[in-house]
Amino acid sequence: MKITSHKYYLILMGVLLFSTKLNAQNLPFVKKQVDTLCSPYFSGRGYIDSGAYKTSIYLSNYFKNSGLKAFPLAEDYCQNFKMPVNTFPGKVYLKIDNKILKPGIDFLVDPSSLGINAVNLNIVRADKNFFENYKSEVEHLRGEKIALVIDADEIETYKGRDLAKKINLLHPNLIIELRSGKLIWSTSRTKLKKAYVWLKKDAFPADAKVVSVEIEEKFYKKYPVRNVLGYIEGSKYPDSFIFLTAHYDHLGKMGKEVMFPGANDNASGTAMVMDAIKYFSMPEHRLQYSICFVLFTGEEAGLVGSHHYTEKPIFPLEKIKFLINLDLMSNGQDGMMVVNGSIYPDQFEWLKKINTKYHLLKEIKKRGKAANSDHYYFSEHDVKAYFFYLLGDYPYYHDIYDTPEKPSYAGYDGAFKLIIKFMESL
Ligand SMILES: [Zn+2]
Repeated sequence: MKITSHKYYLILMGVLLFSTKLNAQNLPFVKKQVDTLCSPYFSGRGYIDSGAYKTSIYLSNYFKNSGLKAFPLAEDYCQNFKMPVNTFPGKVYLKIDNKILKPGIDFLVDPSSLGINAVNLNIVRADKNFFENYKSEVEHLRGEKIALVIDADEIETYKGRDLAKKINLLHPNLIIELRSGKLIWSTSRTKLKKAYVWLKKDAFPADAKVVSVEIEEKFYKKYPVRNVLGYIEGSKYPDSFIFLTAHYDHLGKMGKEVMFPGANDNASGTAMVMDAIKYFSMPEHRLQYSICFVLFTGEEAGLVGSHHYTEKPIFPLEKIKFLINLDLMSNGQDGMMVVNGSIYPDQFEWLKKINTKYHLLKEIKKRGKAANSDHYYFSEHDVKAYFFYLLGDYPYYHDIYDTPEKPSYAGYDGAFKLIIKFMESL
């Protein structure tokens, strides 16, 4: 299509006006929020030192100070409920022979592990000998204090050889699983009947004989948690809502010293929601539809906050016109993924059009259904929902290295503008 120079000029002006308006200092604001959310005060936004609770206070204050409206069923901008969670509030110590292992770097406690305090456990390797000569070589050890060492790379080969039965018969005090790949932590709502650690294979001393270990563990059946939510009323259809969501929780701490800051996951998505609140709070940016901003808790423990919301919505889910969930939003040099993009192809085409028109992100990709973030249970309840995450090499996932200075923030501005434009087009 040919366009006249006059029209071209107008389009160019439009782009320029649009970008100056949206560029209003949002990246410094976002980086500051990510810094704050990753600071020691919030303890990794988990269940040690009330990290997640403190974060909910900080965020609900932000909602309030931004002038968001609160729902009658969540007057303080919070939806309170309880969930089970396993935690490690105190000592986390592991020594093999004379080598003290570094928590978070050399080893992680399995999130479902039981606590333990034991010295000089004898190491038994769950190797070929263990499985093939169990009766002659291993059985006599029953009743001894044992740390059973399992190599995660080898264990597949021993499946079907009464693995679980033999381990249970031996009744080890501790299981050490050796892993050759990256150690990725998580949060658990259940607990094992055993103490269990994951150790980097190269940190395990060859011919090790004994293990001393102390892991303080506390399991809560009903730990109090909260989703944070508030809204801006639409000018024309106040009863119909666009949801913009992200999870604010992360993995918290493993013991007193080791903190998981969760900069990309998901201080970044949380900060983007805060950024959008700032934008839509300006009267000139008000939409025809109401916008509900939700910051979920318990995502890392298994999408608990968003699941709870869909079970106990504070107004009927049918009133949600569209939901956009944000997770991992600070490292987008390769573009953005749209989960459910292939389920709602019309909206996906619209996203692509906006992206091309305003030159926002390198690429927008789509995939189908995935239970990998807080959009999922909404989708399962027939709410139209997308989950956006940015694409780009970023190896710091669920580890102690996902710190605020790591993300490139490439693509942040583009994604932000794309989301705003998309929401305006709904
Ligand atoms: Zn995560």
